[in-house]
Amino acid sequence: MSMWEPWTGCYPASDGCKYCYYYGPYSKRYGQNTVCKTADFMKPLEKKTAEKWKIPPGAMVATCFSTDFFLPEADEWRREAWSMIRQRPDCQFQILTKRIERFPVSLPEDWGDGYDNVLLGCTCENQEAVDTRLPLFLSYPIKHRFLACAPLLEDLELGPCLSGISMVSAGGETSREARVCQYEWVLHIREQCRKAGVSFWFKNTGSRFLKDGVLHKVNPRLQHSMAREMELNLE
Ligand code: SF4
Repeated sequence: MSMWEPWTGCYPASDGCKYCYYYGPYSKRYGQNTVCKTADFMKPLEKKTAEKWKIPPGAMVATCFSTDFFLPEADEWRREAWSMIRQRPDCQFQILTKRIERFPVSLPEDWGDGYDNVLLGCTCENQEAVDTRLPLFLSYPIKHRFLACAPLLEDLELGPCLSGISMVSAGGETSREARVCQYEWVLHIREQCRKAGVSFWFKNTGSRFLKDGVLHKVNPRLQHSMAREMELNLE
């Protein structure tokens, strides 16, 4: 997995951002909401040597982990970012957003029905997000889609929207003041995925996880392994 952070800085888009890992009230970067390009902006086109890319061929490239690809402040930069993505068809670029409604802004003219090397994820942390973001997400020309139900804040009815999505992930909130994630909510999403024939990944429990009537306070380092041990993933 390679990382590409073309810009940094962000601010809340919805309820799921309340305890943002980067800009929430208990985070080191709290208040640093100015959006600016990073020194890595051109990374996909940079080389280590005359023959070798910094990002090797075949890499899965995670993008924008401390920002959002579709921020309005990045509208002009995003044109260049799309251009770099187009020039690296040998890599798969993974983009996760809470602002899917801004997807059409700054879309390249040759986008067509989507670039094959882009895996685009839409975050839906609550039912309101499912009802508003998911229909938009499915209406856009995107070749590879995934849905991230995180931080999972309530039980979700995904409805008939799962066709056209290749994978759904679910995860709890990580924070000192994390809101509780319930095991039954995770099972419900998993069941909807099973019925629709869609892959499911239980990513992490979050800091406060309610299972079988017991509220578990889970250290961030153990949240992924605890989720994995429940063996809920579906291929
Ligand atoms: S969109 Fe992501 S990075 Fe931006 S504030 Fe919300 S959770 Fe944080």
